[in-house]
Amino acid sequence: MGLTFFNTLGRTQQTFVPLDPSLARVYSCGPTVYNYAHIGNLRAYVFVDILRRSLEYFGYNVRHVMNITDVGHLTDDADDGEDKMVKSSRETGRSVWEIAEFYTDAFFRHADSLNIIRPHVTPRATEHIDDMIALIRRLEERGYTYRAGGNIYFDISRFPSYGELARVRSAGDDAGVVNSAHGRVEVDPNKRNPNDFVLWFTQSKFENQAMLWDSPWGRGYPGWHIECSAMSMRYLGEQFDIHCGGVDHIPVHHSNEIAQSEAATGHQWVRFWLHNEFVVMDKGKMAKRSGSFVTLDTLTEAGYDPLDYRYFCLLAHYRSEIHFSWEALDAARSARLRLVERLRGLAEQLSGSAADYAAGAVDAPKAGGRGISGFAEAALNDFRDALEDDLNTPKALASLQTLTKSETGSAEESLAAVASMDRVLGLNLIDEATAEQQIPEEIERLVSEREEARKAKDFARADEIRDILKERGFVLEDRPSGTKVSVAGRAR
Ligand code: AMP
Ligand code: ZN
Repeated sequence: MGLTFFNTLGRTQQTFVPLDPSLARVYSCGPTVYNYAHIGNLRAYVFVDILRRSLEYFGYNVRHVMNITDVGHLTDDADDGEDKMVKSSRETGRSVWEIAEFYTDAFFRHADSLNIIRPHVTPRATEHIDDMIALIRRLEERGYTYRAGGNIYFDISRFPSYGELARVRSAGDDAGVVNSAHGRVEVDPNKRNPNDFVLWFTQSKFENQAMLWDSPWGRGYPGWHIECSAMSMRYLGEQFDIHCGGVDHIPVHHSNEIAQSEAATGHQWVRFWLHNEFVVMDKGKMAKRSGSFVTLDTLTEAGYDPLDYRYFCLLAHYRSEIHFSWEALDAARSARLRLVERLRGLAEQLSGSAADYAAGAVDAPKAGGRGISGFAEAALNDFRDALEDDLNTPKALASLQTLTKSETGSAEESLAAVASMDRVLGLNLIDEATAEQQIPEEIERLVSEREEARKAKDFARADEIRDILKERGFVLEDRPSGTKVSVAGRAR
C-alpha cells in the first residue's frame, strides 16, 4: 500500500508520493521560545518525529526543517495583543535575546530526552529577516499588500482560495470567523477584511518592541506567519511535500502561510498538510499562557521517565485528542515497563548475542523481513500496515505488544523484529532491555530483608517490600536459586 496520510487539505487519506522520488521534504512549525514547551506542545514534536522516522523506515531520504520563533508571535494569532517574547521579557526582567536562548536550549533538552531526532535545519526567525523582507516585497510587487496605520497587510480579497485549508469562505465571512479557534478577536481597524493579516509591523504598533530591523517600510519587525513561508522556502524550495503543526494552526497561521506563499510564487506550495490534535487537561486545552501547564520537567520531577510520556503519546492516534491525567500516565508507564521486562526475558534467552542488539549490530530488516519469519514476520507486517495507515501508532504498539507476549517463535527473531519497530517508535527498547542492571545497595538490602521475611513466613512484610520495590521501579522474580531483582526500565 505504501504510506498514506490524512491530508487536511481536502480532508481525505491519500497515498504519499514525494515530488522528488528520492527525497521527502518536511517542514514543521517550531516552538515560540518565550517559555517552556508544555507537554501538549511536545506531543506535536513527538508526532513529527514519528512521521520523520516512518518516512525513513519506508526508505525515503528526509529533509526536515523546523523553525524557532523568536520574534513576531503575538499573544493572539490574529495580530492582536503583544509580542510573546516582549511580554516574557517585561515579566521576567530579562532581555528578549536571553529569553530566546534560554528557552531554545530548554526546548532541545526536552526534545532530546524524548528521543526526538533533531531536524536537519532549525532556523531562527531573527536570523532570516532578509528572507522575510524579500518575500513581502514579492507580494507587494504582485499587488497582494496594502499599507495602513504604518503596517503592511496581506489583502486576502486578492487571493480567492483563502481559507480552503480551514474550509471557510473569505468573502462574506464576518469578523473573527476564521479566527474562531481563539474566540472572537477585536478587529484591527486598519484591516480592510477582518482576516487580512500583518506582514510587517512598524514601530508604531508597540513602542516597547525590543527587536527591530530596517525595512523598505520603515523600522519594524515581521508578522509571525511570514517567517514560516520565508524559512521553509529558503531550506526546502518553493514547493515541498509535507507541512505539520497542531490543529490550532489550521484556521489562522497555516491559512495565512498558504495565502502568502502561493500568492508570491503563483503555484501550489505544500502538498500534504498533517495536523496533530491537542493534549487536553481539565476539559480544556493546555495553553502556555494559562497558569496550569505541565512541562516535561514537571513529569521527571514527579519520577517519570520522559519515555513514559513518549509512550503515552503513541498510545493515541495523532489525530485524536488526548486527555492528560496522572492516572493515564501511570498506565502508560506500567505498560512500557512491562514491555521492557518481557524484552529483558527474551534477551536473557540469547545471553551473549543480546549485546549485539544493544550495539545495533543486528540491523533491522526491511520489507519482507530478512531473517525474520513466522510469527515475528507477521507482527512486523502488521506493524508496517498500521504505520502505512496514517501513522496509526496505537495499532503499531499493539503489534509490538502481541509479538512480545507470544510464546511462539525464536527470541532472536522476536528481538530483531522489535529492534526494527523501535526505529520508528524511538523507545530505546533494546537498550533498556539489555542495559547493565545497577541495583542500589539499599534495594539489595530490601531484597535480603524480604527473603528473611519469607523464610520466617512473614508474608505480609514480604509483600509489603515487594510493593515498595515495585513503586521504586524494581521487579522481583522468585526463582529456585533465589530472588532475582531487576530494574523495570529506567529506575525512578
Ligand atoms: P507554539 O510554541 O505555541 O507555537 O506551539 C508549538 C506547537 O504545539 C504548535 O504546532 C501547536 O499547534 C502545538 N500545540 C499547542 N498546544 C498544544 C496542545 N495542547 N496539544 C498538542 N499540540 C499543541
Ligand atoms: Zn508556522
